[in-house]
Formats: sequence, C-alpha cells, structure tokens
Amino acid sequence: MAKPYPYFVSLSEAISLCQITHPIMESEEIPISQGINRVISGEVKAMVNDPPFDNSSMDGFAVIHSDTTSPPTELSIIGSIMAGSPQIHQLLPGQAVRIMTGAPIPEGADSIIPIEDCTVDDDKVTLNKPSKPHFIRKLGENFSIDQTIFSPGATMSPEKIALCAAAGVSTIPVFQKLKIAVISTGDELKPLTDDLGYGQIYESNSYGLAALVEIYGHEATRFPNVIDDLDILRDTLVEASKTHDCIITSGGVSMGDKDFVRILMEQEGDIKFWRVKMRPGSPPLFGLWNHTPIFGLPGNPVSSHVVFRAIVGKWLTSLTKSTDINNKLTHAILSEDIKTQPGFTTFRRVELFIKDDTTYARLKGHQGSGNIAGIAMSDGLTMIEPDELGKKGDTCKIILL
Ligand code: AMP
Ligand code: MG
Repeated sequence: MAKPYPYFVSLSEAISLCQITHPIMESEEIPISQGINRVISGEVKAMVNDPPFDNSSMDGFAVIHSDTTSPPTELSIIGSIMAGSPQIHQLLPGQAVRIMTGAPIPEGADSIIPIEDCTVDDDKVTLNKPSKPHFIRKLGENFSIDQTIFSPGATMSPEKIALCAAAGVSTIPVFQKLKIAVISTGDELKPLTDDLGYGQIYESNSYGLAALVEIYGHEATRFPNVIDDLDILRDTLVEASKTHDCIITSGGVSMGDKDFVRILMEQEGDIKFWRVKMRPGSPPLFGLWNHTPIFGLPGNPVSSHVVFRAIVGKWLTSLTKSTDINNKLTHAILSEDIKTQPGFTTFRRVELFIKDDTTYARLKGHQGSGNIAGIAMSDGLTMIEPDELGKKGDTCKIILL
C-alpha cells in the first residue's frame, strides 16, 4: 500500500526534505574561551594589526643588509632588544643590535642574521653570511586592523579562537545553541550503572549522538532510556517537544512490531520521510512531533552515527549556513572492491594508507552495523554515490572521522 509520505527516498532527497523545517536561529555574544564548535553569526573584525609592529622572527642580530653582503663582516654590538622591550634603538652603518624573536626591529635596521651564522667576541660580532630581510615580520602582514577575520557561518576551531585573541577580540557573536533531546528506545538497553542481565546490552548510542550534537555547536540532553512502550514513548516525546528545539531518537524505527517510534509517528506524528537508500542506516525517519523536528535514527550503533553524519549534521549546518567541518571530505583510491547496492549511498568503514605518494582506502574491521568498535577504529567512511560501483582502483570520496 502506498505510504502517505515519501518512502525509501535517496539520501539527497532525505537531506532536502529536512529543509521543510527551520527553527529560528537567535544570536548571542559569548567569550572566546567558550567558543569551541560554535558558529559565528555576524562579521568579526580585527581590533589591532598583526603583528602590531615590525619584529624579528629569529634570535640573532638586527643589521643593515648592505653592510653584510661580503662576509665575513665585523660589526659593533650597540645593545640588546628582548621581546616586549619598549626601548627604541637607532642603528647606524657598521653596527648591530642583538635581538630576540618577537622583539621590535630597531630603527635603521632592515634585516636579521640568525645567531647560528655569527661569531660573538665581546662587543663585536662577525657575520659569516649575508643577513636576511625576510626574517623581519612586517607590521600588519598577517591581518590589519578592521579587517574581517570571520564572516557568518564560520565554525570556531582552536586555531580560530587563538586568532580572535591575537586580533584583540574577546567576545564573538554566535548562533544560540539549539536544545536537542537525545532519546534511546529499547527494552534491552541498560544504563552503565547497572549490571547486565542475559539479553541486555549497555545503552551506548545516546552518548555518541550527544557528542555529535556538541561538535556541531549545540546542546544535547540525554534522556533516560525509554522501554518499548507506546504510552511511555508518547509521554517522553511530549515532554521533550515542550522543552527542546529538536528531538533525536535511536531505535524503534524499523518494520518490527515493537518499533514504536515509527508506529507512534505514523499514528500521531507528521512523517516527512521514512527509510533512506543508504547502507548502513536505511531505516531512519524524519518528521514533526507537536511542530518539533524529530529525527528517528536506527538503533544499530554504526547506523545511528552514519545517519547523524549524513542527514542530521547536514540539517544543522544548513540552519547556520556553515560548512560541515565535522565531515571533512577527502579522496582515496579503493584498494579492494566495496560491496554496494545500485541506487544506494554506501558508507563503509575504512582505514587510509599511503603508498607511492597515493592515498588508498581499505575496509577496516567487521562491517556489521552493530559493530561500534569498527567505526571507532576507522579513519573514515566511504561515500560511494548511488551511481558508483565501488570497485578496486576507483577514486572514492571519504568522510574523515
Ligand atoms: P532497533 O533499531 O530498535 O531495532 O535496534 C537495532 C539494534 O540496535 C538492536 O540490536 C539493538 O539492541 C541495538 N540498539 C538499539 N538502541 C541502542 C542503543 N541506544 N545503544 C546500543 N545499541 C542499541
Ligand atoms: Mg529496538
């Protein structure tokens, strides 16, 4: 019987069907020390030049280059300048100033000679090579005052946080975190505080999914595991939708009689698609529960991660118009055939290796979608498009993990 919603869609259709809902993304100003993974919501401009003054990139001597072109050259040492020194020296022909990395260049000097190319004798220095102008870091060569260092959509990394500080920027405008509920379902799941009985496993998906939410710059609430019970699940979704901007469930979306996320969404929710042509991870659904976006991810641990990266992450980055820095793509040559299915996008766990300056990918570990150890130890996931065959020697897109 035809479903009243898109059924078994391609991955690209699934990604575009998620666009029917866009929570309003508010902005806030936060200290840069809290900026990791957050997405910039406005222009950020440098408050200072970098460097703010010409300075030395070497420990050595500041000299006049024309003095040094016929080594060895003997010069008189007239002083020393340390990093942070406010003293201004005036250099004349025949003179050298001892200088440390980061110290301001004395007036009159146009080049630096590293200490290792000099012989020092009391207040004389012999230069055994010509000096090097490029050992001077010029005022503003990295960026200049008022220059835009980030535009909306940039995701804060450790390096970008350091750049803010170098630019004198102490707070940044970012999109507010979405509050995302992470709800695991399944009678067999136990919290880490319990001992396992026969037939039981530790609930692990919510930890990985919450960590994924956080690397996308949002806030996850891990709900206590929900047993396979329609009423308890309904109550939990009602509560989550009142207090959260988005819900992510794991488990209970397949064809089974106890797959209550799918059953409840079919009966009382608003499904926008169910099932996606991807391996692993074909069971997911997306829709609205009480107007709140809900992603029903499969329970199999690898599938839940792959579906998050392939669909939920794309939706989150679309809300802030940011590039998906958590799913960095590279290319590698397949060193073996990969099992694919026509029309499906195939995500296999691989490790990368380099041979003769070429990057290759080979399968890593057991490829079962229940094997979280396999994905945890992999370098990446293949992203073999529906029309590709995944044959040995083919160039393949790899999502780096
Ligand atoms: P389901 O999608 O509910 O049919 O579950 C598929 C498989 O994933 C089963 O083997 C479950 O035991 C396992 N599973 C479901 N949810 C979790 C979870 N939160 N943590 C670890 N494994 C899970
Ligand atoms: Mg289940």
